[in-house]
Amino acid sequence: MNLKRISSLLMASCLVLGLAALTTRAQNGYSRDTGQPVDSEYTKKIAEYTTEKIFNSPLTDYLPASPNVPTPKAVLGDVAGAPGKLPYAEDVYKYMRMLEKATPRVKVFSIGRTEEDREMIAVAVASESLLAKLEENRARLTKLADPRLINMDDAEADRLVDQSFPIYYITGTIHSPETGAPTALMELAYRLAVDESPYIKSIRDGMVTLITPVVEVDGRDRMVDVYNWHLAHPGQNWPPLIYWGHYVAHDNNRDAMGLSLKLTRNIMNTYLSWKPQVLHDLHESVPYLYDNTIGDGPYNAWVDPILTDEWQMIGWKNVSEMTKFGMPGVFTHGTFDTWSPGYLMFIAATHNGISRLYETFGNAGADTLTRTLSPDEYQRTWYKQNPPLPRAKWSQRNNNNYEQTALLISLDYFNKNSKLFLKNFYLKSKRSVEKPKNEGPAAYVFPSDDPRLGNQARLLRILQGQGCEIHRATASFTVMMKKKPAARGAGPRTAASPTPSASPAKAPETETRIFPAGSYIVRMDQPYSRIADALLDYQYWSPRDPQQSIYDDTGWTFGELGNVQVERVTDIKVLTTAMEPVSGEVHSPGGLVGTGSIFVVNNNADTNLITLRYRLKQATFAASEEPFTADAKKFNRGSFIFHNVPAAEVNKVASELGIQAYALSQIPDTVKTHPVRAARVAIMHTWLSTQDEGWWRLAFDQMQIPYDYISTQDVAKDSDLNKKYDVIVFGPGNSNVNAVVQGRPLYGNPIPWKKTELTPNLGGFASTDDIRPGLGWTGLMNLHNFVKNGGVFIGADDSASFAVSTGFTPGVSIQTSTRLRAIGDVLKTRMVDASSPIAYGYGDTLSVYCFNGPIFNVSNVVGGGGGRRGGTTQRTTGRGTADDPDLVQGRPPAEIPEPPPPTDVWEAAPVNEEQRRNLVGLIPPNQRPRVILRWGNASELLVSGLLDGGDEIAQHAAVIDSPLDRGHVILFSMNPFWRGQTAGSYALVFNTILNFDNLNAGRKLDEK
Ligand SMILES: [Zn+2]
Repeated sequence: MNLKRISSLLMASCLVLGLAALTTRAQNGYSRDTGQPVDSEYTKKIAEYTTEKIFNSPLTDYLPASPNVPTPKAVLGDVAGAPGKLPYAEDVYKYMRMLEKATPRVKVFSIGRTEEDREMIAVAVASESLLAKLEENRARLTKLADPRLINMDDAEADRLVDQSFPIYYITGTIHSPETGAPTALMELAYRLAVDESPYIKSIRDGMVTLITPVVEVDGRDRMVDVYNWHLAHPGQNWPPLIYWGHYVAHDNNRDAMGLSLKLTRNIMNTYLSWKPQVLHDLHESVPYLYDNTIGDGPYNAWVDPILTDEWQMIGWKNVSEMTKFGMPGVFTHGTFDTWSPGYLMFIAATHNGISRLYETFGNAGADTLTRTLSPDEYQRTWYKQNPPLPRAKWSQRNNNNYEQTALLISLDYFNKNSKLFLKNFYLKSKRSVEKPKNEGPAAYVFPSDDPRLGNQARLLRILQGQGCEIHRATASFTVMMKKKPAARGAGPRTAASPTPSASPAKAPETETRIFPAGSYIVRMDQPYSRIADALLDYQYWSPRDPQQSIYDDTGWTFGELGNVQVERVTDIKVLTTAMEPVSGEVHSPGGLVGTGSIFVVNNNADTNLITLRYRLKQATFAASEEPFTADAKKFNRGSFIFHNVPAAEVNKVASELGIQAYALSQIPDTVKTHPVRAARVAIMHTWLSTQDEGWWRLAFDQMQIPYDYISTQDVAKDSDLNKKYDVIVFGPGNSNVNAVVQGRPLYGNPIPWKKTELTPNLGGFASTDDIRPGLGWTGLMNLHNFVKNGGVFIGADDSASFAVSTGFTPGVSIQTSTRLRAIGDVLKTRMVDASSPIAYGYGDTLSVYCFNGPIFNVSNVVGGGGGRRGGTTQRTTGRGTADDPDLVQGRPPAEIPEPPPPTDVWEAAPVNEEQRRNLVGLIPPNQRPRVILRWGNASELLVSGLLDGGDEIAQHAAVIDSPLDRGHVILFSMNPFWRGQTAGSYALVFNTILNFDNLNAGRKLDEK
C-alpha cells in the first residue's frame, strides 16, 4: 500500500470519527456553536498530548478561540495538561487574574492565607449579568439556607427559588501529589467564560461556577519544586513529597470535623458565605474516573436522605454520559464508604449542600507514562461495565480531559435541574431546622459546672467554626433525660465486644436533670444542626457490617474525645428555656481574683494550662502533689502554685487564655509540691513519614509550646542531647522500627530536601542534603543515653513500640494481636495511678482515640515473665470436699503457704521468693514500669465506632511511665494527638512535659 493511499484512508477515518463525535455530541445535547472559531493551534496540541482518542470527549477535544481572552497558554507557554508543565499556585492565580481582566465573566476573590502565608482564591465564572447580581442572589440564598428567615414559608421559598441562581463550588488539588486539577480548572474557567456552545452559554447564564484551583497551596508549591527537580535531574531518583502542607499530608482531607487547618477554615468560610449548593473536590488516585460520591455503605448516619438521592442522580449522570462518549474507566460505586464526615467535600454534606468527589487518574507530575494497572483496577465489575485498560500510555492531558468532561456534564445537568436542586437545598435546610420535632435530639447541653471549661470552650468554638449557633441559659433549667446506666458507657452500646449482641435495648427509663444557669445549649432547630449532631453524637459500626474494607475512622464523638461533658437532650422543652444567643467566640472565664502574692490555678487537665506556664516563663511554678483546700477553694493534685510575677501580668495572660487564677495570701504548709520548670522540648521526626506527627506539632503550636523540630539525623549527630533538651517527643507514624534506624536504602543518588534556587519551597522548617540516612545505631545510642541521663522520651502507638523493641523499657513487652479490630475508634480508659503527675487533673475514666494500639504487658522482670498471676488453683483429686485440703496419710498435715494475691491484667505479677533468690533480670523496684491508665473492661471498652475482639486489649496498660536509669520513657497505647479531635488526651502529654523532672512524684514502691 502506498503512502498516499494510507493517508487518504486515515483522512477518511478521521472524518468518520469526527462525524461520529459530532453526532454523539448532538444526541447528548452538547451541540456546538458552529459559528464560533476554534483555536486551531491549541486544539492541535490537545490532540497531540491525548494518548488515545478514547481518552477525550467532544466536549474537550477543541478549544474555542477568543479575540480578547487569553488561553492558559499565556501563562503555561503550552496548553493545559501539556507534558512537563506544572504551574505553581502563583501562576495559576496569575492566569485567573488575566481572565478577570479580559472578561467581565470572571471575578477572582481572595479567600484567606495558608499556614505559610500563601494566598487562597476562589474564581467565580458566570455571565456578566449574573455576576452583577451576586449580592442580591446571596441574600436570597441566605434565606433558602436559613428558612427561619422566611418563617418556613414554602410558597415564599418557591418564589426565592424562581428568582435565584445556584452556585457550584469546585475545589482542586487538596492532595498535592494529585497534580492535574489546576491546569484542568484554568482551561475550564476559560471554556465557561468564552465558549458559545448553547449548553455552556446556558450554564453561564444560569448559575455561578466557583473555583478554588489550589486548596493545599503550600503543598502545591512544594510538589512543583519536586517535579522541577526531577526534570532537572533526568535518570535520578527524586524526593518523595515528605511534607505537603505545613503540618499534615493526606490528612488535610480529614479536617472537616476538627477544622484545625487554615485551608479547611478558608473553604468552610467560603462555603458559609457563598451558600453554594455543591462542593465538588477533585482527586486523582483511581483510573480513570471514579465519581466516588455514591461510593459504598455504610453511609453517614446524620445526613439527609434527600442528599444521598442527589448523589445518585448526579453521579450516575456522569457515568452514563461518559459511557456514551466511549470513554473507558468511568464508574461511581467502589471502595469508598461515606461514614466519616471528615472529608473536605463533607462541608457541603453536613451543611445542607451536596458533597461530590472525583478520583481521576494522575501521574503525580506532568510526565507521560505507560501505566500498568492491577487486576482489581481493570477488571469488569457490576458497577464498572467499561473498566480502564490494563495497560495504557497516560498523560496529564488525558487526566485534564476526564476532569473537564465530567465537570462539564455535571455543570450542564445541574444547570438544567437548577430549580430542583435549589428547592432541595431549601428542603434540606428546613428539615435541619425541624430536627427537634422529627428525629431529634432537641439540643445538646454543655453544663456550666463542667470541671474543664477551657476544653468546653474549645469544642464550642469548633462548632462556631462550623457555622453553628450557640446559646447560653440565663437561668437553671430542668429537662427529662434518659436515665444513665450505673457505670457510664456500660449500656448495650458497649456490649459489642467480644461478641456483639443483637438484642434490642430495654425501654429507656427517664429522670429529671437540672442544668445550672450559664450552661451552653446547641439548639437543633437551626440550619446547621446536622454537623453539630454528627460531631456530638455517638457512632456505632457493627463488627458484622458487610463493609469489611473500612475507609477511615469509625468513631469521633467530640465530647468524649475532648473530655467535655455533652448531654444529648431529646426533651423538646429544652428549647423553651430562658437563653440568649452567644455573640462572638466562646471563651472560658479567665483572669485573676483575690489579692495575695501567691497565685494558684486548679489543674483540671485543660489543654491551655501548659500555655500559661510558657507564657509566664520567668515566674516560679510548683505543682501540688496532693489535693488541697485554700480560701475554701478545692484544688486538684497538680494545681499550679506560682509567684515571682506581677499580678497584672497573671491577670492579663489568664484572661487571654480563659484560665481562672486565684491570688492567695498563703497556702497550707502541708501541701507537698515540686517545681514546674519550663521544659526544653524537641519533637523528633523521621524522613520516612511526617503525616501523623504533624498533628502533634500542630497542637504544640496552637498551645504555644516552644520546641525544636529535629530529625533522626540530627539525633544521630548529637551525643549530648541532654545539653539541649529535657523532653524528646517522637510522634507516631513510622511503623517500621528497622526503617527508623536504617532510614531509606542508600542505593542510587542522594535525595535532598532543601531550599535551592530550583526548589525555593523545600526545606525551611525541616531540611537535609539527603533524606536517606535514618537514626542509625549511633542515633539510637544517643537517644538511649539521653534518657539514661535524665531525659524524658514520649512515644505513642508505633513510636511507643519503637521504644519497647529497642530496649528503652525493660519491663514492658508487646503482645501480638490476632483478633483486635479497633479501627479509628473511641475507647475507654480507667485511671490506675492518679498520683502520677501524668494523671494530674484527670478523673477516673477518659475516652481516647485508638487505632489497634499496641497491647502492652508489664513485668518486674526484664523481657517479661516473672511471677504467676494469682487466683485460685483447682485442687487435685483427694479426700474431702472441693474446698477441703487433701491429707497425706501417716504424717501430720503440712501448712500450705498463702497463695500470691491475685494481680490484674495491667499489673506486673509479683516475683516470688524462689524466683527472687537468683533472678538476673529482676528489675529494681524504682525502675519498674508504672501504669498510669489502663484500658477499660471488655464490657465497657467501646465508647464510639467499631470494636471487635476488644477483650484482647481490655484492661491492658494504656499509658505507662517506664523509668530508665535517671530518665523516663512514656508509652501510649493510643494516639493522644489526632486530627485536632482529641483535646481530652492532650494534657497527658503536657503533664509529662510540665513535670518532666518529677515524674516519680506520688510513686509507691513495692519490693515485690
Ligand atoms: Zn486525593
